[in-house]
Amino acid sequence: MIENFDQLRETVLSCKNCKLHETRTNVVFGVGNPHAKVMFIGEGPGENEDLQGIPFVGRGGQLLDKLLAHIDLSRETNVYIANMVKCRPPKNRDPERDEMEACMGYLRNQVYLLRPKIIVCLGRVSACSLIDPKFKVTRQHGTFFERNGILMMGTFHPAALLRNPVNKPDSLEDFLKLREKIDELGIPV
Ligand code: SF4
Repeated sequence: MIENFDQLRETVLSCKNCKLHETRTNVVFGVGNPHAKVMFIGEGPGENEDLQGIPFVGRGGQLLDKLLAHIDLSRETNVYIANMVKCRPPKNRDPERDEMEACMGYLRNQVYLLRPKIIVCLGRVSACSLIDPKFKVTRQHGTFFERNGILMMGTFHPAALLRNPVNKPDSLEDFLKLREKIDELGIPV
């Protein structure tokens, strides 16, 4: 494991371990407080993220920021946000298994450095990979699971909420449950 974020970032920025490096504009390492105890993990960068090198920008990112602000969290102060793969899958397709496997070590290293108390999986891809391969977002969103001593919850991906706004109230409920859990456990944020 690499023992600090700057060194890890440097390594990831020059990575060519999977075919996604051929089509990326920027590697999207992660953003937020490197001491945060609450971490969000999406699936992979989209077009805006690829252009800016920052996760969750554009309309989906704005929606995520609003949901975070609703429960007094923000990427500027008390959470960390990353993705399963750090380079954009072409045409926003799902990351493929070999790409996620190639990139998983970097995510593991980020989790190792952060030591989060709670991880929120944004969308099916990260929830299936990190919580349960059979995870169904529509049925299991907002439920906490323990994995390797970390509480994990899956909820809707912001881009999916933009496509299906009918799920926004459920998403808001999930964020409120997250806040309750943070307060219940006395997690410093
Ligand atoms: S997606 Fe991950 S493993 Fe693939 S090239 Fe980018 S940083 Fe490397």
